[in-house]
Formats: sequence, C-alpha cells, structure tokens
Amino acid sequence: MRRKLAAGNWKMNGTHAALTEVEALMAAYPDPSVDLLICPPATLLSSMTERAANHPLEIGGQDVHFNTSGAHTGEISADMLADAGASYVIVGHSERRTDNAEDDALIQSKAAAAQDRGLITVICIGETLAQRDAGETLAVLSDQLTQSLPAGSTADNTVIAYEPVWAIGTGKVPTNAQIGEAHAHVRAHVAQGFETGDGMRILYGGSVKGSNAAEIFAIPDVDGALVGGASLKAADFGAIIDALIVA
Ligand code: PEP
Repeated sequence: MRRKLAAGNWKMNGTHAALTEVEALMAAYPDPSVDLLICPPATLLSSMTERAANHPLEIGGQDVHFNTSGAHTGEISADMLADAGASYVIVGHSERRTDNAEDDALIQSKAAAAQDRGLITVICIGETLAQRDAGETLAVLSDQLTQSLPAGSTADNTVIAYEPVWAIGTGKVPTNAQIGEAHAHVRAHVAQGFETGDGMRILYGGSVKGSNAAEIFAIPDVDGALVGGASLKAADFGAIIDALIVA
C-alpha cells in the first residue's frame, strides 16, 4: 500500500512573510491521512521546519550537491539540508535540467548523495513537447529512469515525479490516457528494476490545480502530485490535498 503524497515546490518564490501560508495549511490539516511536503527556497528551510516541528508536514530542499562538503560556492549539501530539518529533496527538476544543463548522470549522483544522508529523493523525469510529438515519450522516460535512479533506490528513499516539461507552469495538462500510459510505464520499469519498485510512489506534476486534481488522482499508479504554482497558497494547495484525501 503506497501512502499518497501531496508535494509543493515553491521554486524561487517566498520570503518569511509567506510562512503564514504554511501555518494556514498546518491548521487546516492537523492530522492528514496523506503525506504533505513543502519544498521552499533554501532561505526558508530552517524557519519552516521550526514551525512544522509538531506537525506531520515534511519539509524538503529543491536541489542538492553531489559532494558532501567543500569548495562549491552557492551549493547546498545533503548534510546541510538535513541539518536545516529537511527530510526530502527534489532532484532533476526540468527547470534545473534546462537552466543548469543538468544531465541524468549528475542527477543520479545528487540522488545518491541525498539517499546516503537519509533524505527521501523526489527524482523528476519527463519528456519535452518535441519528444512527445516525435513519439519518444516512453523511451525518454525509460532512459531517464535507467540513468538517474541510483542502484540503492527503494520505496522508502525514492519518489518518482513524472512531469511532462510542456505541462509545467503552462496550464496545459496531458490527457488522462497519456498520464495513465506514462505512469504504467514508470511503474513497470521500477517494479522490474528495483526490489521494492512496486512500493515506490509516482507523482504526477504539471499544472495540477484544485479543478483537475480529482480526475488526475483517479488514474491508476498516480500516487499524488508535485505541484508548483498552486502550492504557494494554502487555499489552492488545500483543494488539491482534499482531492487526494478522497481519491
Ligand atoms: C513543478 O514545478 O514541478 C510544477 C509541476 O509546476 P506547476 O504545478 O506550476 O506546473
């Protein structure tokens, strides 16, 4: 039985004033029956984990360096994330793949560093529109899974986020059939390649909002969502959480 997960990625949004949104979220869901995760900018990690100290809300980083420490200006290690109270970290988000030219090998090394430090890694994969139009979606997903999941990935330390690049922040959402096909493909791949792959959670990400969440969560092998824009406000994220709770 996979426990559902609603994960919010705040990206480069939010100062300390935005902590009121997290407080509102915690007040609305004092004992949620699904896992809740917010990945704020690094500047908010400690403040957020302090506020969530007596609440099941999990806090995560948005990226991590593959080295444990050293001369890497501007970077954050897995140990630093854990020290700030994070229990999760996103790796391989398409914005990092694009903005920072991150490839699967780098993502795999980041995920391994995070897993070694005991963080749960949310590993993002997904096709571009050109790849979908060329009929390459499933092959792209297979390649990304093969090359970016560390050998030690388990249901406990790994979450997969299927995020079609063309659906992120665009308001465009794949059809239910397209999401179902991708998730079934990812499930088969991880179930075959990893001993506990059947238990790995697979999130859908890309323009999820309150109005489309219920139908997305009804698709087999969708174990929750990774949410960008609609995770910034407690009311918007709450509508998605409500749909996940009853799915
Ligand atoms: C994301 O950034 O992972 C994402 C899915 O963004 P949005 O929900 O805004 O499309």
